[in-house]
Amino acid sequence: MGCLEMPRDAAPDFRPGVKADHNTAEAMIPRAPAPVPADARNGGRVKERDEVPSGVYLPNNNILTPHMRSPAYVQMSTAAAITLGVMNGYMHRTSCTRCLNLLLTYPEGCRANCAYCGLARHREASRDYADRNFIRVDWPAVPYDDVLDIMERGGDGDRFHRMCISMITHPNSDDDTRVVLKRWVERVPDVPVSILSNPTTMSRLDVQTLKDLGADIFTVALDAANPDVFDRTRGRGVQSPHSWDKYWDIMKAAAEIFGPEKFGAHLIVGMGESEHDVLTQVQRIRDMGGHSHMFAFFPEKGSLMDHLPAVPRPQWRRVQLARYLIDYRDRRIDDMRFDTTGKLVDYGMPQADLDDIINAGVAFRTSGCPGKEAEDVSACDRPYGDSPARDIASYPFQPNKQDVRLIRRQLASTKS
Ligand code: SF4
Repeated sequence: MGCLEMPRDAAPDFRPGVKADHNTAEAMIPRAPAPVPADARNGGRVKERDEVPSGVYLPNNNILTPHMRSPAYVQMSTAAAITLGVMNGYMHRTSCTRCLNLLLTYPEGCRANCAYCGLARHREASRDYADRNFIRVDWPAVPYDDVLDIMERGGDGDRFHRMCISMITHPNSDDDTRVVLKRWVERVPDVPVSILSNPTTMSRLDVQTLKDLGADIFTVALDAANPDVFDRTRGRGVQSPHSWDKYWDIMKAAAEIFGPEKFGAHLIVGMGESEHDVLTQVQRIRDMGGHSHMFAFFPEKGSLMDHLPAVPRPQWRRVQLARYLIDYRDRRIDDMRFDTTGKLVDYGMPQADLDDIINAGVAFRTSGCPGKEAEDVSACDRPYGDSPARDIASYPFQPNKQDVRLIRRQLASTKS
């Protein structure tokens, strides 16, 4: 496939006539997972066939999914594979990504069942793990030695400012993350590493070990912005093992061990929480010394929420802007005002100052761990990971004047 845009039906919020101001808790109910046939459980099909992998595996390429395991193999985002030069393709309005996102891979896949995620366990009925879409794109699998060889000889042309290891929920992922990290630090010491952790299988000692091995930033994919949404989308509501308290325990450990500016959390906007809920978590994380990395909810094809609407743009833009004010402009949630539904109605600062920040556009870029450009610009730019190119939620580049005009209209609108 030549472009990041994946062929698929229009998402519900992009169909004519479906408009809303925000996604309510009542509307955002995941569907129930279907039973998985016994032969497909735990990567059964892939292990039974036991095809030997050879070189780069491009997902959904009409060949049998080989038996690939980390740390020998890692998956990477389509954008990272194009930037690294292991697959062909182009991206709309950008030529590369600045973050080499690596995903641990096993035939058994992630053993969690998060309702919004394309990697979730219930999909083993229909799709082998290495063929599943995740944040809207395919994830090619590449021998890790090949990745290290290319990076060690500077084959990326210094385009990667950061590498990130996504741990997933698997019994081997703690050990394998340590191996992948250690080998990277030995061979590519000038590109810092972030850890996208899996708190469910981790202890405080695991966090300390990753710090000692050379990880630069530790992040926690909290994703849900309140305990109810968490439980409904990635806990008991979908037979998934995660718990809100455990995620916060590991976040607190990360704050102490990695320190200020060196830890953060992922939050998804539009899963039924209020804007006040999201910004409460953003403020809590900022007060601990960390940053929030925001994702616009998008109905991932094949997930348990693929029938639900993406976050309406007005809701998303308000939260995106307020999060930037809290994280990088020393504003506080206490100065902002919300209506009775938790919708943000006043940013608590002079309009002229707010206009300057909106016009600068940085607040609307993809948020995540920083690279070399600026502290408030993410290396992890995830091109089109939370929206189609025709209606960008997180800009993977500096928005131009026309983009800012559209953002202003979305901020001013009460409907998507
Ligand atoms: S733990 Fe992460 S990778 Fe696994 S299903 Fe949940 S969100 Fe997806």
